[in-house]
Amino acid sequence: MTLHFNILTLFPDMFPGPLGQSLSGKALERGDWSYNALNIRDFAQGVHKCVDDTPYGGGAGMVMRADIIEKALLSLNNPLVPSSPHPLIYLSPRGRPLTQARVQDLSRTPEITLLCGRYEGVDQRILDAYDFEEISIGDYVLSGGEPAALILMDACIRLLPGVMGNAETPSEESFADATGGLLEYPHYTRPDQWDAANGQTYSVPDILKSGDHAKIKAWRGEQSLALTKERRPDLLKNPA
Ligand code: SAM
Repeated sequence: MTLHFNILTLFPDMFPGPLGQSLSGKALERGDWSYNALNIRDFAQGVHKCVDDTPYGGGAGMVMRADIIEKALLSLNNPLVPSSPHPLIYLSPRGRPLTQARVQDLSRTPEITLLCGRYEGVDQRILDAYDFEEISIGDYVLSGGEPAALILMDACIRLLPGVMGNAETPSEESFADATGGLLEYPHYTRPDQWDAANGQTYSVPDILKSGDHAKIKAWRGEQSLALTKERRPDLLKNPA
C-alpha cells in the first residue's frame, strides 16, 4: 500500500524537508509514499501573480483567494491513485486537534490533499465549497501551514507497513489501543549506572533487570497510568 500527498502551498521547496531523511526518507525512495507539492502562485494571473487580498470587513493582514486555490485544487490529477473521494485537509489552528486515531485512519487512505495557509489564512468559501476538514496540530499559531503539514505527514508515514523496523513498535506506544490510549512508560538502556555531570548517579529500576516479564509488564502499566494521571488526565477513559 502506498500513500500519496498533494500539498497546496506557497512554499513547495519546504517539502519533503525533514521527511527526506531517516526512515521516511528511505520510505520515499522505496516508493512507500509520494508527494506532489503544488505552488498555488503558479495558478495566479498577472505579472505580480498575487494570491491574496485584503479582508472584507477590515482588519489586519491578507487573505488567500478562493478562486486561485480552486484552480490549484482542480489541477490535481494523479494517475497513480484511483479517482475516489479522498481527505481534503486544511491545516488550521481553528481545526479539530490531530489525534493518533485520526492519523491511523489517514494512513490507510491512498491519497490525502493538504492545504497550507499563510498570512491570515484562506477565504472561508474555498473551505465551504469543497468541504475541507480543518485540522490543528496544537493550541498555538504558526506562521504557515507547511510545518503542520509535515507533522501530519510524518505521523502517517511512520504507520505505513514496512516503514518502521520493528513491527511491534506502533502498537506499544503512547495513545495506542494496546496501551489503553495512555502515555507510554519510561525507557532505559545501558549503562546500568550513569554518573551524570551534575554529580548524581542514576540507576535503571531493578524490576527491568529482573527478567520477570509479567512483573515488568505490570510495572510499565503502572508507570503509564501514573504519568497519564499526572500529565494528561483528559486521556483517561475511567478517571479514578
Ligand atoms: N489568522 C489565523 C488564526 O488566528 O486562526 C492564523 C493564521 S496563521 C498566521 C497562517 C497559517 O498557518 C494558517 O492559515 C494555517 O494554515 C497555519 N497554522 C497556524 N497555526 C496552526 C496550527 N496550530 N495548526 C495547523 N495549522 C496552523
